[in-house]
Amino acid sequence: MLQAKEYVKPSSLEEAYQLCKRRSSVVVGGMMWLKMENIQKQTIIDLSGLGLVGIEEDEEQFRIGAMTTLRMLETHPGLNREFDGIFRECTRHIVGVQFRNGATVGGSIYGRFGFSDILTCLMALDSYVELYHGGVMPLARFAAIPRSITERNILVRILIKKDGRRAAYRTVRRASTDFPLLACCVAKVDGQWQISMGARPKKAETAVISGEAALGQMDLGEAVRKQMDPGEAALGQTDPGEAVRKQMDPGQAALKQADPEQTDPDSAESRMEQEAERIAREGAKAFSYGSNLRGSGAYRQVLAEILIRRLVRQIQGYETDGARETGAGTENALGQREAAAGSENVGEQRGAGIRAEYGGGQEGAATGAEYGGGWKEGDRR
Ligand SMILES: Cc1cc2nc3c(=O)[nH]c(=O)nc-3n(C[C@H](O)[C@H](O)[C@H](O)COP(=O)(O)OP(=O)(O)OC[C@H]3O[C@@H](n4cnc5c(N)ncnc54)[C@H](O)[C@@H]3O)c2cc1C
Repeated sequence: MLQAKEYVKPSSLEEAYQLCKRRSSVVVGGMMWLKMENIQKQTIIDLSGLGLVGIEEDEEQFRIGAMTTLRMLETHPGLNREFDGIFRECTRHIVGVQFRNGATVGGSIYGRFGFSDILTCLMALDSYVELYHGGVMPLARFAAIPRSITERNILVRILIKKDGRRAAYRTVRRASTDFPLLACCVAKVDGQWQISMGARPKKAETAVISGEAALGQMDLGEAVRKQMDPGEAALGQTDPGEAVRKQMDPGQAALKQADPEQTDPDSAESRMEQEAERIAREGAKAFSYGSNLRGSGAYRQVLAEILIRRLVRQIQGYETDGARETGAGTENALGQREAAAGSENVGEQRGAGIRAEYGGGQEGAATGAEYGGGWKEGDRR
């Protein structure tokens, strides 16, 4: 349990910052994580009086206050419209609605948890953190700083630039609402694929894979438009996957779905599929993977390739998003590859501390044993 002698609700960021510089104080967001910590502090600093709740949108960017809840991210129409529903997808597995109404974006990002869906999702976008002391820096740079050496600071806002990227997000979980076994977000911008991989079980990192090699410098959308009739191409708004499907008669389309081998290897559809496979292969290799109670590093790497390929296909317009699948469906679909990768007997490792599994940004190390020891999978559901 988190215990403190004094509770302060500052009326300015400067006051909060001066208080937070003391090692004996702790900043609280929604306190959903902190309340499970076994730490004693002199002062709790509550940021809820500083107007840091809310999501502002203008033509260039979104500005998300640090005290904005995960539920607000999940249900924000502008964010989900701009980024293809990834905020709905990256939050919906986190415990439950009541919990998401309490947990904050600031706590999720400042914590830099290895398992974080939020960090993984934001890292695939053009995201920045605004710190009270230190100004604005790219989220990827902030995330890479080990929590242990971070200056005590206040996270004020997250900024996300609107650069027209398409994005898709998916995780694999052993049970719905469990921590992710692997989390992946893929975004496409200017012909490049930006991949963010979290819960490896290390915290999220990104890799950028060029989308041009397989098509000889030709953009995929461009390749498809070249196959379309001039009227349709002129519209320029058609989704590439949709365009290819429109070219097939229904029987042909059904056949191609039933037997992918029948696909003309030179068709735009087939080239997009090859492109997805290449990006998945290269993307999965770009990260390192570790083992914990949820799965081995080898298993994660196999899953990473599958997730990336599916997300690329989703952005290309060929796969539905994860929200339309049940968790069990996803597990089944992954089952074959799991068997091939030799899933470990994870049961023996259960009960090990989540702190030890994921590392990342937690307060005092002493609390790890208590949290891990007292925690059983399923307690949270
Ligand atoms: C049981 C449980 C299950 C969870 N499952 C998942 C999951 O599946 N996926 C997922 O992504 N997340 C999960 N989380 C994490 C959760 O989503 C939040 O990230 C977490 O609760 C932290 O948010 P908070 O608002 O509660 O922060 P707090 O607990 O209040 O703070 C967390 C840390 O951030 C610091 N902090 C908070 N706000 C600021 C700020 N503005 N400036 C500087 N420092 C700040 C605090 O000092 C503390 O160190 C889970 C958490 C719990 C407790």
